[in-house]
Amino acid sequence: MKIVLATSNKDKVKEIKEFFEEYEIYALSEIMQPFEIIEDGTTFQENALIKARAVFAKLSDEQKGEFIALSDDSGISVDALDGAPGIYSARFSSDIVPHPTDESNRAKLACELKKLNLTQSKAHYTAAIAVASKFGEFVECGYMHGVAIDKERGKNGFGYDFMFIPDGFDKTVGELDLATKLAISHRSNGLRAIKPVLEMLKEKFKG
Ligand code: IMP
Repeated sequence: MKIVLATSNKDKVKEIKEFFEEYEIYALSEIMQPFEIIEDGTTFQENALIKARAVFAKLSDEQKGEFIALSDDSGISVDALDGAPGIYSARFSSDIVPHPTDESNRAKLACELKKLNLTQSKAHYTAAIAVASKFGEFVECGYMHGVAIDKERGKNGFGYDFMFIPDGFDKTVGELDLATKLAISHRSNGLRAIKPVLEMLKEKFKG
């Protein structure tokens, strides 16, 4: 059984490959030309399934015989912002800039906290991990709880990591090393939850 990742996000690919060293994992660009996927679901789970399904559908019949597609849909939900940006994390600043980036999204988060006269708020990350395969579709979720702050600290990670302090730590994820993030992150927790599915599929592929 081989796994093609239904994402072109280099940081996600790095974290998933590092976490799942025991599997044969390919980045999307190694298997096919990356293409646009409209994520019009209303939950992380729906969007993760949309991505995994779209990539699996593009595999040739021969590839479907040996590959599964695995996706990650993730984001941060901030309590003081009523759970925003949530599933819109990647496009949070689309009302401010035409092409939102991690940087513009972080600037918007700092701005929204300041508007409420807050320097921090409880928050959590969610990662929905979906699998599409000839044996069916599956989805599991992982979470990381903590506090979102109005300043950026650290250089590691990506996205909102420089503004998020996980529960039990006094450092942002941006100040933690990758091994620590992999031990506690929403993505790792989602991958841990989907692992029994991967083991079951591996056996089915063996016939
Ligand atoms: P997606 O690629 O549509 O799932 O969007 C993910 C969004 O959530 C992007 O804005 C990311 O920056 C953010 N995000 C997801 N996971 C992480 C993480 O592990 N660290 C920081 N930001 C993340």
